[in-house]
Amino acid sequence: MRKLFLNASIRDKIIIITCLISFTVSLMMTVVLAFQEYYRAQQNFYKRITLEAQIISDNIGSAVLFNDRDTLAETSKSFFQDRSILSVSVFDEEGVLFFESIREERLNDNPAVLKDASSRSRGNLHLETKESITLVDKGIVVDEERVGTLQISAINYQLDSIIHNIFTTMAWNIVLSVVLASILAAFLQKLISAPILNLYKTSKLVAKTQDYSVRARQHSQDEVGSLASMFNQMLEKVEQRDEKLEKLVEQRTFELEKLAEEFKHRAFHDSLTGLPNRALLSERFDLAIEHAKRRQNKFACLLLDLDNFKTINDNKGHSYGDQLLIEVANRLKNTIRREDLVARLGGDEFVILLSDIEGTEGLYSLLEKIIEAVGKEFYVNNEVVRTGVSIGASLFPDHGSTMNSIKRKADVAMYRAKDGGKNCFYIYTPDMQEDVRYRLMIQNDLETAIQEEQLLLYFQPKIHNKAKLIKGCEVLVRWEHPKEGFLSPGEFIPYMEESSQIISLDYYVVKKACETIKRWQSSELSEISLAVNLSGRHFTNYRIVDKIKGLIDDFFINPGLLEIEITEAVLIEDPEVAQSVVSALKRLGVRLSLDDFGTGYSSLNYLRTLPIDCIKLDQSFIHSVDVNEQDKRLIKGVVSLGKGLGLELVAEGVETASQLNILESLGCDYVQGYYFLKPVSEKEFIQWYEKYTRRM
Ligand code: C2E
Ligand code: CA
Ligand code: CA
Repeated sequence: MRKLFLNASIRDKIIIITCLISFTVSLMMTVVLAFQEYYRAQQNFYKRITLEAQIISDNIGSAVLFNDRDTLAETSKSFFQDRSILSVSVFDEEGVLFFESIREERLNDNPAVLKDASSRSRGNLHLETKESITLVDKGIVVDEERVGTLQISAINYQLDSIIHNIFTTMAWNIVLSVVLASILAAFLQKLISAPILNLYKTSKLVAKTQDYSVRARQHSQDEVGSLASMFNQMLEKVEQRDEKLEKLVEQRTFELEKLAEEFKHRAFHDSLTGLPNRALLSERFDLAIEHAKRRQNKFACLLLDLDNFKTINDNKGHSYGDQLLIEVANRLKNTIRREDLVARLGGDEFVILLSDIEGTEGLYSLLEKIIEAVGKEFYVNNEVVRTGVSIGASLFPDHGSTMNSIKRKADVAMYRAKDGGKNCFYIYTPDMQEDVRYRLMIQNDLETAIQEEQLLLYFQPKIHNKAKLIKGCEVLVRWEHPKEGFLSPGEFIPYMEESSQIISLDYYVVKKACETIKRWQSSELSEISLAVNLSGRHFTNYRIVDKIKGLIDDFFINPGLLEIEITEAVLIEDPEVAQSVVSALKRLGVRLSLDDFGTGYSSLNYLRTLPIDCIKLDQSFIHSVDVNEQDKRLIKGVVSLGKGLGLELVAEGVETASQLNILESLGCDYVQGYYFLKPVSEKEFIQWYEKYTRRM
C-alpha cells in the first residue's frame, strides 16, 4: 500500500491525501455530531420519562399511603400508553417493592424478563435484556412527607432510528465530503503539482536533450518557485560550465590536433631548421624516381657538407652553430627552385633533389648558384661568419637506380669536392670510387705510419735574399707508404684534416722537428731554425701549447729555433680563441709565421694583432710576379706594411732567377723555392747545405 502510494504521481498523491484528510475530518465531525445527537435524544427521553415519573408520583401519593394497589395499577396503566415505559415500580420507605406493573407485551414476549418480583428490592431490578433501559427514580411525597419511591423503567425505541439516521447522515457526509474533496483536489492540485510537473518536464527534457539552455517556468514565489529558480540557476551554471568545457574541449582538440600535426611534422622534418629530414627525403626520393621514370628524364641528388662547420661549432658553441645551420638552410631554400627539395640529414649535411634535369649546363648553373649563396657572408648573433660548402652530385638514372646507390655516388663526389679544396662541387664519375677506397686506406694507415716511422721529414731552406744566407728550413712531411709508395702531403693531408688525425700527424712532425733541432745543435746546422706547419684544428684549445712546451723542455732546445707556420684560415673561425692560443705559443719563445699570405681573406688587421714574426707570401703571387703588375703592387704593399710592423717577409715558391730579382727589388727579405732547393730529406739537405755554404 505504502509502495503503491509512493509510486503514485504527485497529482494522485495530492488527491489521495486530500480525500484521506477530508474523510478523516468529516468522519470525526460526523462522529462528534452523532454523539451530540445521540446524547440530546437520550437527554430528551430522560427528561420526558422523568416528567412522566413526576406526574405518576404526584398521582399515586395517596394510593401508596393507603396501600391502594388497584389505583396504582389503574394509574400506571394509563402511563403504559407511552410505548417507552416498560414498568412502573413502587417501593416503600424501606425500599421494599410495594407495587410493580410491567407492560403486558413485554411479559408475553419474554416471561423471563422479570424475575420474581417479590425477591426484588429497589435498585436491583434486573431485566435480562440487551436493550438499553432507562431507570428513573422519583420520590413519592404526601404532605411533604416521603412515603415511597417510584421507579420507572423505560426504553427509548427512537434511539435505533436516531442511530440509524446518524449513521446514514455520517455515511453521506463522508461520501459527499470525500467526493467533493477529490473533485476539488483534482482541480486545485494543479496549483501545487503544475509547477512541480513543469520542473519535472524541464529536467526530463534537459536530461534527454542535454540542452542546458532550457529554463523552467517560475509559477510562484513559494518553495517550488524557489526550487524552479534554483534549478534555473543550476542550469545556467551548468550551461556556463558546459560552454567553458566546450571551449576547453575545443581548445584541447585544437591543441591535440596541432600537437599531432607537430608530431607528424617532427617525424618528417628536422627540428632545428624545419627542413624535411631523412624520412621525408626517402619518401620524396621514391617519388622522384617514379616521376623521372614516367617522364623519362633525370634528377640530381646533391650531397652538401659545410666546410668549416665543425670548427665554428667547437669554437663558438653549439647554439651559434645551430643558428648558422638555420641561416644556411634558409639560404638553400631560397636558392633552389620551387619544385626542388632540400633536406637536412643531420649535422652540417644537407641533401638537395633537383628534379627535371635536362642537361649538365642547367645542373652546373644551379650548383654554382648554391656555392655562391652559401659562400656569402652570414650574420649570426651580430657577427659576420663565413663558411663554404662542398657538394657532390649524382644523377638518376645515370649513376644508380635506387636511393641508396644514388646517394652513395653523391657522397663519393662530395668527398672529392672536399679533397679538391672545398667550397666547390663535383659531379660523380666512376673513377671517384677509387678515391673513396684510397681515402679510407689513408685514414686507416696513419697510426701504423707513425709507429713504423713511415712519415719522413723533408726540408726546404729559407734563404736571405741579399745575403744568400740560409736562415732556416721549412719542414714538410712525406709518407713512404708500403703499398702506395712515396706520398706528398697533398695526397694525404686533406684526408687527415677531415678528422682529428691531423693532430697526431702534426704532433709527430713537431716532435721529429724538435728531435732534429736537438741533433743539429752539435753540428754546423745549429743556427738553423725549423718551421713546422700546424693545422687550424690545433687553434681551438691550448693542448698544442702544452705539447710544444713539453717537447721544448724534453729535448732541451732553444725555442727560438722552432718556428710555427699557421694560415689565416685558423683565425677566421674563432679569432679570439685562436689568437690567444697563438699568443700562448709565442710566449713559449717560438717563432711564428703567417703562411700562405694573400690567399684566403687577407685581413691586414691580423698583421697588427697577431704576435707573428714573419709573413709568408703565397706562391701564387710569386709565379706571376714577373708578368703581373697587380701582384707586384700587392707584394710591394705587403713588404712595406710588414717592414712597418717589424715583420720578416718570405716569398714562397720561387722557381726562377727573374722572380728572385723582382722580389729582391721589391724589398722581400727571404725567399724559398725550387730555385734553391726542392724539399729534400735530411741527408740530402745536409749535403746540399754543405755544398751551398762552401760555395758562398
Ligand atoms: P705549404 O706550407 O705552403 O708548403 C709549401 C709547399 O710548396 C710545399 O708543398 C712545397 O713543396 C711547395 N713548394 C716549395 N717551393 C716550391 C716551388 O718553387 N714551386 C712549387 N710549385 N711548389 C713549391 P708540399 O710539401 O707538397 O706541402 C703542401 C702543403 O702541405 C704545405 O703547404 C702545407 O700546408 C702542408 N704540409 C706539409 N707538411 C705538413 C705538416 O707537417 N703538417 C701540416 N699540417 N701540413 C703540412
Ligand atoms: Ca708552410
Ligand atoms: Ca705556404
